[in-house]
Amino acid sequence: MITADRYYKERFGRKMYKAAISLDVTCPNRDGTLGTSGCAFCSAGGSGEFSAPRELTVTRQIDEAVERLRNKVPAGTGYIAYFQSFTNTYCDPSYLRRALEEASSHPKVAAVSVATRPDCLPDDIMDVLAGISQKIPLFVELGLQTADDEVAAGFGRGYKTEVYDRAVKALKDIGINVITHIIFGLPGETPDMMIRSVEHAVNAGTDGLKFTCLYILKGTAYGKLFEEGKIAALDMEEYFDIVERAIDVVPSDVVIHRLTGDGPKNLLLAPLWTSDKRQVINYINRRFKDRL
Ligand code: SF4
Repeated sequence: MITADRYYKERFGRKMYKAAISLDVTCPNRDGTLGTSGCAFCSAGGSGEFSAPRELTVTRQIDEAVERLRNKVPAGTGYIAYFQSFTNTYCDPSYLRRALEEASSHPKVAAVSVATRPDCLPDDIMDVLAGISQKIPLFVELGLQTADDEVAAGFGRGYKTEVYDRAVKALKDIGINVITHIIFGLPGETPDMMIRSVEHAVNAGTDGLKFTCLYILKGTAYGKLFEEGKIAALDMEEYFDIVERAIDVVPSDVVIHRLTGDGPKNLLLAPLWTSDKRQVINYINRRFKDRL
């Protein structure tokens, strides 16, 4: 398995950290285009709880992230400007171009990563991404979550999996590195279905994968169902059993950027084991020590 750490060291010759950035964007699942309440698991922060305030300039947000990490990372660390919250290509192309150019001109930034939905990549946005990718290594992170259209409809994703397939191809055709996000533990999905989602993303041509456990957060539709006892979260053992199966089906040239993520602690209803980061890291190191 190639981890992000190993991949970044090979590609950039050093350790890389992400500086999370918020733009003044929303998402079609929130602004009324496809819906107003967002995906059933998504918090009001649009999955960007760890980003700096969006009122700050891109440069300031990167400066603040670098400052926060100053004593925690080795000298010479490179940064990936990570446009994380909401749907970062769901905006005017000129706004996106300015933001990406500002990030790519920052002296500490060696790469840029843009999180978005595959149905928000019209031609004029693709032109912006193609232009930026000529200047700096560019990653586009697509929130697939599942390849099963019925499960996806259950949380209100708002696009079919075939849209994702076309987006991966279009991005790769212009030389952009694609990372696909997949959630394990969505209601209605069995472990076999979760593994099929991983295989689907690999077959579609993704360059990298990020796995995460379903976080059930306060104030979300899933939060309400959880409080009513209608859905449950995976326990740690169950989750990593699925991760292990996923690793087994991922070819060695596809980078696994993340085995699990961090839910926002102040909103987290379940699974609570995810909030004990040290325990999770120890568990991963023990269980996957021969593969990391
Ligand atoms: S998960 Fe992404 S697409 Fe879904 S509501 Fe949140 S920001 Fe929008």
